[in-house]
Amino acid sequence: MKVFADYHTHTRFSHGKGTVMDNVRAAARKGLEAVAITDHGPANLFGLGIRSLATFDEIAEEVGRSREAFPEVRVLMGVEANIIDTDGGLDVPDDLLKRLDIVLAGHHLVVRGRTLPDWWKLSARNYAARWSRRLAERARVDNTKSLIEAIRRNRVDVVTHPGLHVSIDTEELARECARVGTALEINAKHAHLDTEFIKVAARQGASFCISSDAHSPEEVGDFGRALEVAIHAGLDPERIINVRA
Ligand SMILES: [Zn+2]
Ligand SMILES: [Zn+2]
Repeated sequence: MKVFADYHTHTRFSHGKGTVMDNVRAAARKGLEAVAITDHGPANLFGLGIRSLATFDEIAEEVGRSREAFPEVRVLMGVEANIIDTDGGLDVPDDLLKRLDIVLAGHHLVVRGRTLPDWWKLSARNYAARWSRRLAERARVDNTKSLIEAIRRNRVDVVTHPGLHVSIDTEELARECARVGTALEINAKHAHLDTEFIKVAARQGASFCISSDAHSPEEVGDFGRALEVAIHAGLDPERIINVRA
């Protein structure tokens, strides 16, 4: 299997180490055909996300410059958006999502909810769920529902690290992903995805995306663990949107 594109990389605009140009240079060096710049949306707390929505203008400028410097690499301008309410609302408005080349979305626990109850349901309760089965069950329902609503209501190309730090119903999510054409990520950085997850999701007809989730330029195009898991699960390469057999 050859992964020809890395659709999930971070830069200094959120909490990555390199610049947009550094990531694109690394992609060119590794012979990738495409790389996406997908910094965290503004709802991530403690400086993990972009400062504000205006930051997208700065990112766009750097993306433009890196396209000129490395014409052999297709550079996609994107985002890793946060789900900030149980109705699947994202921290990036719709008109902005439409301007982007690629939209990733997923759960992050260190995030500002749209309201305090949203923050409890999508963030704090997932911590509290460790000590209470009742809370764990409720959290799982809302984690799954919010993701499903997010891909129904918004244009989302890939769900990032599904099930990382939060419990979700894989089967239900994968069924909806297959219906609306959203891929599930196999993330090289967070090797939480076991082969069972992939098998369950694949049975629902979902497609997948293998990503580095690079937080430094050296990690761009580093798919090691994700590739291993995909092969282990016996995943058909045709089901992975950025792989050629
Ligand atoms: Zn993430
Ligand atoms: Zn990420």
